[in-house]
Amino acid sequence: MWYMSTRDKTVRVSAAEAIAQGLASDGGLFVPEVLPRFTEDQIESLCEMTYQERAVYLMGFFLRDFSFPELAEFVEQAYNEKTFDAPEIAPLVECAEDTWFLELWHGPTSAFKDMALQILPYLLTASLEKTKEEREVCILVATSGDTGKAALEGFCDVPRTKILVFYPKDGVSDVQALQMQTQAGDNVGVLSVVGNFDDAQTGVKRIFGDAALAKELNDRGYFLSSANSINWGRLLPQIVYYVSAYCDLIRAERIEVGERVNFSVPTGNFGNILAGFYAKQMGLPIGKLICASNANNVLTEFIRTGVYNRNRPFHTTLSPSMDILVSSNLERLLFLLSGGNDTETAGYMKELSEKGQYTVSPEVRAAVAETFWADFCDDARTRERIAELFEAGYLMDTHTAVAYDVLEKYRAETGDTTPTVVVSTASPYKFADSVLDALGALGDAEGLALIDKLSEVSGTTAPEPLVALRGKEVRFDRTVEAEEMTAAVRAFLV
Ligand SMILES: *Cc1c(COP(=O)(O)O)cnc(C)c1O
Repeated sequence: MWYMSTRDKTVRVSAAEAIAQGLASDGGLFVPEVLPRFTEDQIESLCEMTYQERAVYLMGFFLRDFSFPELAEFVEQAYNEKTFDAPEIAPLVECAEDTWFLELWHGPTSAFKDMALQILPYLLTASLEKTKEEREVCILVATSGDTGKAALEGFCDVPRTKILVFYPKDGVSDVQALQMQTQAGDNVGVLSVVGNFDDAQTGVKRIFGDAALAKELNDRGYFLSSANSINWGRLLPQIVYYVSAYCDLIRAERIEVGERVNFSVPTGNFGNILAGFYAKQMGLPIGKLICASNANNVLTEFIRTGVYNRNRPFHTTLSPSMDILVSSNLERLLFLLSGGNDTETAGYMKELSEKGQYTVSPEVRAAVAETFWADFCDDARTRERIAELFEAGYLMDTHTAVAYDVLEKYRAETGDTTPTVVVSTASPYKFADSVLDALGALGDAEGLALIDKLSEVSGTTAPEPLVALRGKEVRFDRTVEAEEMTAAVRAFLV
């Protein structure tokens, strides 16, 4: 299967090239030229498989230049009892009749980013081999918290790779900051940046566009690549858990083959929910994809009106991994929904970069509304939902609470009773301060004491890697101005 750029369909590369490059040279994102479609029979046979077998089967459709034994090996290394603390990998937990939580946070960093970033390093290093790339790759990451740690963990000491992570100084939780500051590995670097996530992301984009820097690094035997969800190798592994959740519902006899299921997804960069859209396009019987935002509700407005407008105040919220005003992966959706119109897609992106906003055509707007529904949830409501569900017996983090709240709004507004999966994207322990506060039990706890406190208050067990942070030394505590990011890359790649 070939991949093309969303801004120019004549750019045509293999899967390995798409993964090695990350971003197309015209600034577009790589998308598959055709989407495989599966039949009900195939869905039935997927039901008999383990998570790992489903991953090999589904990724195999898209990665024709990778062999079956290769993929099986990568999947086994990425999803096993050492890396994940749940044998199902992505367990479904019943919340109420017709409502489940899909827990995507049982990996090493306690957030859903592990689902893709545990396997991406294998896909990427194999892609370097396949494309006969001789230079070393330096992964640059701008993170709102979770991607950074998951990428560091995934790429830690992977041969032929280095990784440098930038996170907004005041935009991540205590636990998230500590997770990154204590990262092990000889090929890793972590810096905090003065500003918010968009400042860090803009800085990284500027570095990627810096031709002089690229040449200089090339002379030193390096090239830059991305582990942000613009990389196809990040998106693809996420399709797996939508299909897997559907199969698990069939296996548990909660739904019949062919019956529709909705998903409610806490959304920031639009990567997670886009993987759900790909699953739907491939024939998985998904009804609505419910796009849940926090106070940074640029996507709510877009899905409701067809206007994407990033010119608005940036809010720091209790769900920091969704504090985003530019959702990069939306570009792939626009390309798909405009019928693969590269000129139209490039036009929207040009308007976005020049004016900070664009309005999609009536056709695209209608196609968006057919599948997506959107609303947002503020911090006060996020707290209330956490407390309310804890009373009912389930402890969730702030991001998941946003998705849960928006699902309830959707049901109240539409009366739709379709069985629905709420995508649970982080362990409550990762945002222990906000969760404890919501439960009225924060007291004066801070730092790692928050983890013990949450365990005590909730009667649940904290994930082992978070408990283990206690004995770790802080290795990275430097802060840079956004203008110093390029210099930091130079210094890192000596
Ligand atoms: C990254 C993240 C999100 C948002 O996912 P996108 O793919 O960026 O839309 C939601 N919740 C958590 C906990 C995350 O880490």
